[in-house]
Amino acid sequence: MSTIPRLFVKADLSLGAPLALTSEQANYLFRVLRLKVNDTVRVFNGRDGEWHAIVTEAMRSAGFLRLDEQIIEQADIGDLQLLFAPLKKTCTDFVVEKATELGATLIQPVITKRTQTTTVRVSRLEKIVEEAAEQTERLDIPLVGEPIQLFEALKKWNPERRLIYCDEAGDSPDENWGGKSGRAEPMVEAISAVEDGLAAILIGPEGGFSSEEREFLRQQEFVIPVSLGPRILRAETAAVSALTLWQAIRGDWRPS
Ligand code: SAM
Repeated sequence: MSTIPRLFVKADLSLGAPLALTSEQANYLFRVLRLKVNDTVRVFNGRDGEWHAIVTEAMRSAGFLRLDEQIIEQADIGDLQLLFAPLKKTCTDFVVEKATELGATLIQPVITKRTQTTTVRVSRLEKIVEEAAEQTERLDIPLVGEPIQLFEALKKWNPERRLIYCDEAGDSPDENWGGKSGRAEPMVEAISAVEDGLAAILIGPEGGFSSEEREFLRQQEFVIPVSLGPRILRAETAAVSALTLWQAIRGDWRPS
């Protein structure tokens, strides 16, 4: 693992091109990391692969790099979406950071009937995904969507994309697990039975899905209800578990 610092930039990357740093990037490189002129930085923008860049000017809140060599070609970044009901701030931050490390390419907050946190500052989450992508050595940055109502998202759903719906349990007090619609199939079996292809994972809020939401979800052709085992997981645990299972069985953790 390289010790050369890694930076996400928005500009196009091409050999010899000068790259102006934002004040935040200059502060990070020159004050926090104490880099100097002629030191090397790794830069990526999600489109042009990863490059070695040389510091040509280093000031308090500005600086320039010169693109020196492309070290990694831009690879296919996959396509895996996470829909989750926003949680308390620190838990949402955790979900967004782990979803980035686990390869989600779209992180979409969805508002459900029992969602307690309906406001989300996307710009703050974008900062988290950027830092997580730098650390996890991804060549891209996942998109963070503006929060939308779950039913809105489902109404305009691309039926080609399977929605892995993490269904923790039914609401009926007299029946355990899944109520009259029955407990969902364990996720490993459910996704082992499908072909590779477009997928999204749906995680509910702390209070779970309402019975109307559950009813509606289970009626959709593109929905695959799954169980994540015999215990109720916190939403953030469920998000990490489901992303992990998907990547291991259908995603990019398999040998390429
Ligand atoms: N209200 C639920 C309850 O107490 O029965 C708890 C909801 S759980 C905290 C938040 C979300 O995590 C759920 O909506 C579901 O998407 C997911 N989840 C948690 N445990 C799960 C499990 N065992 N199987 C499937 N999904 C689970």
